[in-house]
Amino acid sequence: MVEISIENLTKHYGTLVALDNVSLAIASGEVFGLLGPNGAGKSTLLKTLVGILRPTSGTIRIGAIDIVADPEKAKKMIGYLPENPSLYTGLTTQEFLQFVGKIRGVADDLLDRKISESLKSFGLEEKRNSLVGTLSKGMKQKVALIATSLHSPQVLVLDEPLTALDPKTRVSVKDWIGGQTTRGVTTILSTHDLDVAQTHAGRIAIIDHGKIVAVGDIESLRHMANTASDARLEDVFLRLTEEKGEDPARR
Ligand code: ADP
Ligand code: MG
Repeated sequence: MVEISIENLTKHYGTLVALDNVSLAIASGEVFGLLGPNGAGKSTLLKTLVGILRPTSGTIRIGAIDIVADPEKAKKMIGYLPENPSLYTGLTTQEFLQFVGKIRGVADDLLDRKISESLKSFGLEEKRNSLVGTLSKGMKQKVALIATSLHSPQVLVLDEPLTALDPKTRVSVKDWIGGQTTRGVTTILSTHDLDVAQTHAGRIAIIDHGKIVAVGDIESLRHMANTASDARLEDVFLRLTEEKGEDPARR
């Protein structure tokens, strides 16, 4: 069981402030949604969280481990799905997953079992010996998700896991995320899709221009935004960003 703690996290790219003093505490086993428009800083936050980017300032702890001070130890606990996963297109599905699993140090017999189970649960068994490069976009996303979880991470960091997938694939990916979380995996996922955030995450942080505008479950976000009890997240989002003195129409 692992919680995530982000304190006063700031990230600059040159003069651009991509994250501005972000603090978040994510409980063990929680499914946490990061919602914001394009360019809000979602991917930057997730990359910093998994140790790919170094913070300009602030601290991130995965359980008790500081990602900057002890990246190797922290990374062992994390499964990360990038925004645009790069897969080895010249390997077969089986070869690619074995390659990733071995790098992750998964024992051979366990790895074989995990690969078979995962391919089965995603309905990908018949693609076991196909080259990754010949798979459809949705199939590639499923293979990337399997690769993300082969080492049974306690923390899943998923950057827009459902973007650009057909409805059927979305359902199976949603089910897969649900299955991970019933096993107590702490999950943080980003999305610009309000429906995904609303149906999937327990708590949601709304991020805009590198700042956390609001955090809470949909009920408390509605309350903060002073919107009706049946208000859509979209209205809540627009209201909350408005109250920070910005005109959403200009975005
Ligand atoms: P999101 O994932 O919410 O769409 P990003 O974190 O990708 O947002 O980007 C946040 C801001 O940081 C954007 O203005 C983007 O152009 C900028 N940015 C992202 N990555 C880099 C980079 N490597 N170098 C410079 N600017 C970047
Ligand atoms: Mg992004």
